[in-house]
Amino acid sequence: MDVTTNIKPGNALDVARIRQDFPLLSRKMNGKPIVFLDSAASSQKPEKVIDAISEYYRAQHANVHRGVYQLSQDATTAFEAVREKVRDFINAPASEEVIFVRGVTEGINLVASSFGRKFLREGDEVLITAMEHHSNIVPWQMICEEKGASLKVAPINEAGELIMEEFERLLSDRTRLVAATHVSNTLGTINPIREMVQMAHAKGIPVLVDGAQAAPHMKVDVQELDADFYTFSGHKVFGPTGIGVLYGRAKWLNAMPPYHGGGEMIKTVTFEKTTYAGLPHKFEAGTPDIAGVIGLGAAIDYVLEIGQDAITQYENQLLAYATERLKEVEGIRFIGTARNKASVASFLVEGIHPYDLGAILDKMGIAVRTGHHCTQPLMDWYGIPGTVRASLAFYNTTEDIDRLVEGVKKAVAMLR
Ligand code: PMP
Repeated sequence: MDVTTNIKPGNALDVARIRQDFPLLSRKMNGKPIVFLDSAASSQKPEKVIDAISEYYRAQHANVHRGVYQLSQDATTAFEAVREKVRDFINAPASEEVIFVRGVTEGINLVASSFGRKFLREGDEVLITAMEHHSNIVPWQMICEEKGASLKVAPINEAGELIMEEFERLLSDRTRLVAATHVSNTLGTINPIREMVQMAHAKGIPVLVDGAQAAPHMKVDVQELDADFYTFSGHKVFGPTGIGVLYGRAKWLNAMPPYHGGGEMIKTVTFEKTTYAGLPHKFEAGTPDIAGVIGLGAAIDYVLEIGQDAITQYENQLLAYATERLKEVEGIRFIGTARNKASVASFLVEGIHPYDLGAILDKMGIAVRTGHHCTQPLMDWYGIPGTVRASLAFYNTTEDIDRLVEGVKKAVAMLR
């Protein structure tokens, strides 16, 4: 395939124009025009998101769900409109199933703590995969330890694909929940969530999906996936930090105890007893990140304006281009070569520590991530200290990739 000619701006997306929406992309780093290839850690923000937050604080701010006065009611309307927008974005059946959280980390902790307290008993099991981010490992370890339950791990093959027969085999009479990532932040692997959910549901087991690395790159439909919980972070979908979403099936959320106690999540309080509010407020104690929600709404509008199918198509082509070009680097070893991948190229170069490579690229204005990417058990499985990870968004170009490849070649020549 001639990948170079396939992805000129104006084909799937007008990337040259899109880049103008992102003020940060025109700045320099270490005196060089920045090549930003760390969107898997956090993506950059379009002007519309920055402006929406600023405008909110300038003209619309008041606490939500409380005031009888107009300003508070308007803030509440704007806030709740984003809940509906998110519902539509992930095709959730009802907006009350959309809980605002700080991000994926909090979304998973909420389910681990609340679902775990209610449904986990001694001897029970929680099943995760070998490619999980620490935030989809540690909360389960914590609750399993508390409850005397155990954590099971479904293995992967050398390419970084889940071994489905093993996954199915590990779904036992004792499995109370499956928690799996939709897309691996280290390998780029897209997991077959729909099939995994089918296998789990066949045994009556609910499934939580970590959507941190999926939501920025593809259309997510929680009904099509049939997921019981799905969580994503605002800052990875071109929105602000500190805000994220947990979708949960009402059946489960209604059966789960609250996570945080405080204002907003109650129906009545006496010193003797408190009754709780219904969904979604039961899980949203205290003043929420209102500006974050407004910014997230603007980010969703922006992504939809560009078009999710166009984003996926463009990024697939750019990833193919990056993979082909990186093969020019002598001694390169890709970590994560799954057939079904999204937007991540993780690699090592023989004889060179990833950190040294990253540090030299930084001097050239190229931002990549080096290290274990919060997936230490996965790095242990591969027997490596970490990788260099270039992660893409729709604002990246073939020129970014060309500078990366030239940079890696130069760095390798210096370090060898
Ligand atoms: N899961 C995955 C797969 C991730 O990539 C990340 C972020 N690196 C997280 C969870 C945690 O997301 P956050 O830090 O936004 O809570």
